[in-house]
Amino acid sequence: MVRPEPYRIKMVEPIRLISREERERRIAEAGYNLFALRAEDVFIDLLTDSGTGAMSDAQWAALLRGDESYAGSRSFSRLQETVRELTGYRYVLPTHQGRGAEHVLFPLLITRPGQLVIGNLHFDTTRAHIQLAGGRPVDLVIPEAYDTTVDHPFKGNLDVDRLEALLKSTPRDAVAFILVTVTCNSAGGQPVSLANLRAVRAVADKYGVPVFLDAARFAENAYFIKMREPGYAGRSIPSIVKEMFSYADGLTMSAKKDGLVNIGGLLALRDDEDLFRRCQARLVPFEGFPTYGGLAGRDMEALAEGLREAVDEDHLAARIGQVERFGRWLEEAGVPVQRPIGGHAVYVDAKRFLPHVPPHQFPAQALAVELYREAGVRGVEVGSFLLGRDEEGRQQTAPMEFLRLAVPRRTYTDNHLRYAAEALERIMARRDAIGGFRIVYEPPVLRHFTAHLAPVSAGCPQPFANELLTED
Ligand SMILES: *Cc1c(COP(=O)(O)O)cnc(C)c1O
Repeated sequence: MVRPEPYRIKMVEPIRLISREERERRIAEAGYNLFALRAEDVFIDLLTDSGTGAMSDAQWAALLRGDESYAGSRSFSRLQETVRELTGYRYVLPTHQGRGAEHVLFPLLITRPGQLVIGNLHFDTTRAHIQLAGGRPVDLVIPEAYDTTVDHPFKGNLDVDRLEALLKSTPRDAVAFILVTVTCNSAGGQPVSLANLRAVRAVADKYGVPVFLDAARFAENAYFIKMREPGYAGRSIPSIVKEMFSYADGLTMSAKKDGLVNIGGLLALRDDEDLFRRCQARLVPFEGFPTYGGLAGRDMEALAEGLREAVDEDHLAARIGQVERFGRWLEEAGVPVQRPIGGHAVYVDAKRFLPHVPPHQFPAQALAVELYREAGVRGVEVGSFLLGRDEEGRQQTAPMEFLRLAVPRRTYTDNHLRYAAEALERIMARRDAIGGFRIVYEPPVLRHFTAHLAPVSAGCPQPFANELLTED
């Protein structure tokens, strides 16, 4: 039986498809980097689910209730109360977005250079903030996550045996903290089970290491637990959410995902008053006064409402159901995708889609460019291009080369996604003719946002670019 969306559409925003010739020109002008396209040249934008969702009428109404007082804003109190209720945490600090929370917290936890921050798979800005704070990110997701053909209900799980082995063999002061990302964005929007969080907590306690959640998609994770984890089918989403957070000492959160707002973030701590004071002290110079932290009163008001809507089960069923359908259409068309389908995006396995393009010619980037040319649909590479270089400046090889097609919340209809799936099906039929890319310009940090590329077949005017391709 069809389960329709629990909303109807009150406002629309026109979108338009420019001609193929124009698309060819625009993507070349953008240096074959989809981040450099003008959004109006994109027909269907699956670049990210971050800050791109549609707010509800209740959220728009909440904007008008925003209290813009510099200190002690009523909107902050409402947000604080909502977060306390959802998480069971006592201390709540708003930030301008997720990376703001990372920037405030991480340097307080990473107290010596080279300390490890152990996670399932760290998100890219998270990885960058760990490194900027002098830490070393370590990814210990279960091995199943790296095989897109294997079905596993909780592919985001942290490998607890390897965690224990690492903690056992490492001096306590060489480890800063554990950060579990729910759902695991970089593994394909894959959930983490409560059993896994419980086991991580137990091992962490044994070795005295604090545990935090990178909680951007906490509600989607809770929905997967309800659907897949034995014993949780009868539990409410808010009670699962609370149990998830009970296994951690605090959270950083990008509110632009499950928070259902266009901008915002959170840092919350269970009960560590001393750490809270030190976070507050860093929040003020970097984000803002503790009762606004870089957000307007109205932003906090919309976020408080968004967090309540995020844990509504009908919303989650529609949201995750739509992503699941999108994945199924692609699978039916023979497009290789990460199995099972994740919560916020479909991850196309570009290694299997373009087996003739080597990792250092960025097969997922090649596929992303081709999808834009074909249909005006924008996705994003999550692979070696995004991973970047190691400490010696060598191009690293990502374990997976994904084209991520993220689905904004409550924004596109099934027809939009069907159109994108059909475009990939057409590309599949002529995939042998698709070649790779090389980098001709890149900044030192988070290069994927601003780098320029060129097709490998088109000659190589910059002498240094050749050297980028020689290591494998
Ligand atoms: C988006 C995201 C972040 C960073 O949040 P921003 O709001 O983009 O700064 C961190 N971790 C995960 C898992 C994310 O998805």
